[in-house]
Amino acid sequence: MKYVTKNIILDILIGIFLVPIIAVSVFFISFLVKGQSINEATSALAERIVSMINKTRSFSEEESGKVFNDQNVILPQQVNNVGYTFYLGQIDYPDAAEIGDGLKKGITNIIHAANFPKRLLNNLAIVTVNTLAANSNQYIKMPPDKFLKVNEFSPDFVKGGSIFSQRTKEYSIIFINKDIISNTLNRLKLVLTHELGHQIGIQLTAKDWEEYYRLRKIPKGTSKYGQSWQLSPSEDFAEVYKYIYTDDPIKTVYGLLVLKNGFWAEEGICKEIYEKLVDDYTKDETEQQRKDFWKFDFTFSDHYAEHQNDEIIISNIELQNCRRDVLLHPQKYPKAYEFVTLVGLPYESTVSQETRDFFNKIIKRFN
Ligand SMILES: [Zn+2]
Repeated sequence: MKYVTKNIILDILIGIFLVPIIAVSVFFISFLVKGQSINEATSALAERIVSMINKTRSFSEEESGKVFNDQNVILPQQVNNVGYTFYLGQIDYPDAAEIGDGLKKGITNIIHAANFPKRLLNNLAIVTVNTLAANSNQYIKMPPDKFLKVNEFSPDFVKGGSIFSQRTKEYSIIFINKDIISNTLNRLKLVLTHELGHQIGIQLTAKDWEEYYRLRKIPKGTSKYGQSWQLSPSEDFAEVYKYIYTDDPIKTVYGLLVLKNGFWAEEGICKEIYEKLVDDYTKDETEQQRKDFWKFDFTFSDHYAEHQNDEIIISNIELQNCRRDVLLHPQKYPKAYEFVTLVGLPYESTVSQETRDFFNKIIKRFN
């Protein structure tokens, strides 16, 4: 018994001290033999250790190496179409129909129309989901052998139609609710383009984000993921990208907020601020000119339109904050939403030319 214990202790001591010492020595000798200096060998060893730690970490994230029941592994297929290569898979019942050519072509068109960088398709899977067939024990297998766990889908997924998820530093998945595909490809276009925007967004450097915050008038220090969807800079980035390539209105509340549906739709408080600004702005005009201006309030005269588009007036912070508040709290401003089903939201975020140039620059860099 005593002997056995001693032996185990010895084994442990060897394990703890001797094996690593031998491993490190062999490593160093191999580097020195290759003619590298001690310094180079040391930094190479440090790199190796860091990569080993990273590997262990990514293993626990992706659960690589685990043996899965085939039924629970979704293997996206590689689609090659007119110069685009992307991964497309589906979560559905085993006897569901295979992904059709129509969808493959439709998605290719969307990717192409969005000017999406081809390189960013390599680590991305697009997966369509029948939520009834989804369970919490499913994995997406990315080539060659990465297993990415599928999280449970929330009711928000059914409502919104899609979700972007970065499963590891390298791999992302766009989940698309099958229900939105069956109706019309247009909804898919809007939803998928937004999600592709996220795949670009996660590649941005801290400096890129700094520039983006400035362009969109986002207060410094705002968390990239915001306190809410509408106030999230990363959602704003995806929305602006979607807007640039599909023309679908931006639903986040950064950028310059302009009145969308005529002066009559402007909410009382914001309208007062606006009128005061115009008064200040036009104080050097003659009494008659000012009279003319307000006389044509509701007729969309040139003079009115001129002021409406005048960035100096509408970029006023007090006015912008008022409009943002109206968009963020519809229940506080029932008047502004009276005709929302007919004419849409009272204000809309716009995109400056400089912001468009920023997107062009970023996309070029990732291509
Ligand atoms: Zn989003």
